[in-house]
Amino acid sequence: TSAFHPAEARTRTTCGYCGVGCTLDVIAQDGEVTAVLPARDGPVNRGHACVKGRFSHGFRTSPERLTRPLLRRDGVLEPVGWDEALAHVARGLRAAVGAGGPDSVAVISSARATNEENYLVQKFMRVVVGTNNVDNCSRLCHSPSAAGLTASFGLSGGTDTFDDVERADCLLVVGANPVEAHPVVGARLLRRVLHGARLLVADPRAVGLALHADVHLRPRPGTNVALFHGLAHVLLAEGLADEAFLRERATGLPELTELLADYPPDRVADLTGVPAPDLVAAARLYGSAEHPAIVYGLGVTEHLHGTDGVRSLANLAILRGAVGTDRGYGVNPLRGQNNVQGASDMGALPDLLPGYGKVTDPAARARAEDVWGVPVPGRPGLRIPDMFAAARAGDLRALWVIGEDVCATDPDANQVVHALDACPLVVCNELFLSETAQHADVVLPVASWLEKDGTFVNFDRRFQRVRPAVPPPGQARTDFDTLRAVAEAMGVDLGCATPADALAECGRLAPVFAGLSHDRLDREGSVPWPCTAPDRPGEAKLYTERFATPDGRAHLAAAPYLPPGERPDDDYPLVLVTGRRWAHYNSGSMTRRGGNLALDPVDFLDLHPDDAGRYDVRDGEQVTVESRHGQARLIARVGDQTPPGQVFCSFHFPSSGVNRLTSDVADTVTSCPEYKVTAVRVAVS
Ligand code: SF4
Repeated sequence: TSAFHPAEARTRTTCGYCGVGCTLDVIAQDGEVTAVLPARDGPVNRGHACVKGRFSHGFRTSPERLTRPLLRRDGVLEPVGWDEALAHVARGLRAAVGAGGPDSVAVISSARATNEENYLVQKFMRVVVGTNNVDNCSRLCHSPSAAGLTASFGLSGGTDTFDDVERADCLLVVGANPVEAHPVVGARLLRRVLHGARLLVADPRAVGLALHADVHLRPRPGTNVALFHGLAHVLLAEGLADEAFLRERATGLPELTELLADYPPDRVADLTGVPAPDLVAAARLYGSAEHPAIVYGLGVTEHLHGTDGVRSLANLAILRGAVGTDRGYGVNPLRGQNNVQGASDMGALPDLLPGYGKVTDPAARARAEDVWGVPVPGRPGLRIPDMFAAARAGDLRALWVIGEDVCATDPDANQVVHALDACPLVVCNELFLSETAQHADVVLPVASWLEKDGTFVNFDRRFQRVRPAVPPPGQARTDFDTLRAVAEAMGVDLGCATPADALAECGRLAPVFAGLSHDRLDREGSVPWPCTAPDRPGEAKLYTERFATPDGRAHLAAAPYLPPGERPDDDYPLVLVTGRRWAHYNSGSMTRRGGNLALDPVDFLDLHPDDAGRYDVRDGEQVTVESRHGQARLIARVGDQTPPGQVFCSFHFPSSGVNRLTSDVADTVTSCPEYKVTAVRVAVS
């Protein structure tokens, strides 16, 4: 197992919750965590941490923690030894390949796992199994960011270092609630506002930052593209575009100009519900700022046209010359999970290898083949929703789910359960007996972020070290060790004896990571990618000389606004938006098993007083929420944070059934689910 040093009472590591990547000092005594302290010299958090990273470590010693492998016998999961569990997995994977070929096996990797674990996951599938059927949960959140930012600028990541936000004089925060979801970033943004930066918030709800906004734009869910076109229209109409930048460094202006003629403020007001004067005021503030910044979240991506949303938002920065120059802070997504950037960087994707070489590109495959010594399949593999569809159709014979509770977190959850039940072998790496694990044939107990060695990549592309502060409980092992052990049971040496070896090997086949190593990170603390050589600094700010597109220019996108996939009607008159709350993280499997539950013990359905009156719902009553796909039960909370016609709940309490409500509508480019628009009705239970 990975190295653990019991004598070390204070361990410097990186938070395993959100993508901000706060540096933490974990204090441990006798193998138990006694405190988690924010590091004053943490490059992103600078002495701060939020209620999740600082206090939510009680899950580690929960009596529900898995400490032994489980194997299903006669329909019941029973504890077994590692040898028996590994042999069963190896036999099952070999049988699946024998019966249906390599493409009948798939793996869902984890944005909570380290880079090195994600690297090994995709290497296992490509080298041991011989398929590209590997994906990670960025599919469900920021895959439109990857596609959109790559198309607009050339690389799949935010354009700037967050440090540059300190210079911003105008912040445009879109579809994000950083005060609750990314509190350390929320605090730094607020600090800028208190120091004089203008603040524009685009979000249907009155999220925390909206209280401080100069202009709060409240578009109807699913109308982002129209909103961004409306802002762009004003920039062009009022001469606020940077003509020299557009001439020298961008392409696509004639097509966009033609499209934007159809998006004057009055029409955009009709499409989005945002009053035209507010739209014009926001465009003028963004367009006249010296150092404008765009920060956005899942409110932009989780839509039928999420990739168009990212690209249309990126248009604003390009029109202003506020990306790849000293002036702006470009376009920067707030990543939800601690290592969702890194999971994709490491190639845990069905169409991309480590460092974003395409599997369809012979040159990219050749680089990997040189290092791995085996042919790499050239056909893109299955995306997560396609894996479930293949399982339901009987075409997927084995699915390995690493650290994702897909039955609770993926949309149209009833269909996910059918898929797992139809798949002959389901293997699950988990901390707890999650809903997904309950449908598995083999459950492997694994180490948490406090118990493992490696690196994460945060939202502004920084590689940072993760170190084991305490040992994993019982027989739990790291995902890294699990992958190597299954490969060994199948007769293959995966190489990479340690996580440091894995990162070094990744750097040999992915030039953008060639300058990174554990030793260097131990010395320097954090290094952003691209980092092409050990003696070169990483590129914190991208595109200062040229964009990474084939022609070296930023690409404006002219995508027309199209309506969302789900729309309210007489039967389902309200629109449900889901998101995060302050004390909890994602499915809540860690934050609900500790003190944070006392802070936020249940989930609520937030609804406006007008709707409460219309549907005869009182504050605190239990309500049934129904969509065209399923049903959930929540406690009503009446208030005006959510506008009339919309309701909001979190996804932190899956037992309420929230993802039985959401649909299988997904982004047309990346298959990212449309979590942000579900038509529902509400009645007192
Ligand atoms: Fe920082 Fe995010 Fe962890 Fe909170 S959850 S401490 S903001 S990394």
